[in-house]
Formats: sequence, structure tokens, C-alpha cells
Amino acid sequence: MNIILLGPPGAGKGTQAQRLTSRRSMVQLSTGDMLREAVKAASPVGLRAKAIMEAGELVPDEVVDELIGNRLDQPERYSGSGFIFDGYPRTEAQAKSLDRLLGDRGMKLDYVVEIEVDEEALVDRITGRFTCAKCGAGYHDRYKLPKVPELCDVCGSDQFKRRPDDNEQTVRTRLAEYRAKTAPILPYYEAKGLVRRVDGMAPMDEVGASIEAILDS
Ligand code: ADP
Ligand code: ZN
Repeated sequence: MNIILLGPPGAGKGTQAQRLTSRRSMVQLSTGDMLREAVKAASPVGLRAKAIMEAGELVPDEVVDELIGNRLDQPERYSGSGFIFDGYPRTEAQAKSLDRLLGDRGMKLDYVVEIEVDEEALVDRITGRFTCAKCGAGYHDRYKLPKVPELCDVCGSDQFKRRPDDNEQTVRTRLAEYRAKTAPILPYYEAKGLVRRVDGMAPMDEVGASIEAILDS
């Protein structure tokens, strides 16, 4: 089963993708994570993407299409029971590319799960979030501080990091990009009967349960 998680920045796509990864051994394909790795490695793609990401704009379609295509061509890396596309596609052109990338490999999409959230909540969620630099566990300045101050609950590390694009100004641009370019791909998938919606304002585990109910339907 292959699904897309669609929703604005801060909706919880990454959290839900990780949950599905551990509960169903699905494989998460996050273009945001791939691009951040490329930036860190200072590869040609990373050098091209860095400033665009820091501004909150979208990197060119052909860059992310290629990242996804490369991953789909390495099936030996995946023993999972399907892919979760997280943060891709983000434009109508990417949606069409994904159809082609899957079709060429004899795969198809089963669901597009839209995670709906209040825009007001998003800026607050994103600007407060940080993660453990060692294990990636997620925290929040106001909603989820480590139980022992400044030590990761999961691995005990005292090193944390914040994404450079999680500042208010960049978040506003990311939201505007979502509204202008990504939300408009929903009708494309609605026409194919693939869209299902979940309430992203519910507690994390409830959102997860709703998504699993869709996959089991
Ligand atoms: P979020 O969903 O929290 O905004 P992501 O981690 O998915 O963040 O993406 C971070 C940034 O990476 C985006 O703001 C954009 O610059 C770039 N990016 C990620 N995926 C894509 C994509 N499919 N198309 C274009 N740009 C992308
Ligand atoms: Zn940790």
C-alpha cells in the first residue's frame, strides 16, 4: 500500500509517517529530510536547495522528482509494506511526475490522507519545536519539554537542534506556498477518488488511529 500524507507545514506529517513506519513497517520518503541531508552533505543538490529552503520557498520540481525517483529505484533498501510520501508531491507537476514514477515501476497510490489543521495553530507549533540531535525525538518549548530539563527523554543526550526554517517569517512563507501551490493538488486526487481526511487538531495518537482506520478500510 502506498500513501501520500498531505497537509500544511506543522500538520504532523513527519510524526505520523514515523508512527506508521514503526507500526506497519512502511517506508517514509520525505523530500524535506532528503534535502536537509543534501544540505548537510553540501552536495550539488544541497548547495542549490539551501537558500530556497531557508526562505521557505519550494525547490524546483525536477530536483525533488529526481530524489524520489532515485529512492524508488533502490528497492533493495526497502523491505517495507509500502511507501509513505511525506512532503511530496507539493505541486501539480510533482503529482503528475509521481504518477509516472510509480506507473513506470508497476506501482500505484492507494490513498491521499489530508491532515487538516487550524492555520493559527501552525505557526505556534512550528516556531516552538526542536528535536534531539542524537536520536531525533521531538520536543516543544510550550507543549512537550524533556522530563528532566535539557536531557532527551529517549536517549539522555543534552544536544538539541532546531530547523533553520522554523522561524516565524519563513513559516509564513511556507504556509503561503502551501496555500498557493500544494492545496490546489487536492482536486487532482479527489477526481481519482483517493482523498481521505483526518482531524490534525486531535491528539497525536488519535490522528494516528484515524489514519490506520483508513488504511484498514
Ligand atoms: P514542512 O512540511 O515542515 O514545511 P519539509 O521538511 O517537508 O517541511 O520541507 C522543508 C522545505 O524543503 C520546504 O519548505 C521546501 O523548501 C523544501 N521541500 C521539501 N519537499 C519539497 C517538494 N516536494 N517540493 C519542493 N520543495 C520541497
Ligand atoms: Zn535523544
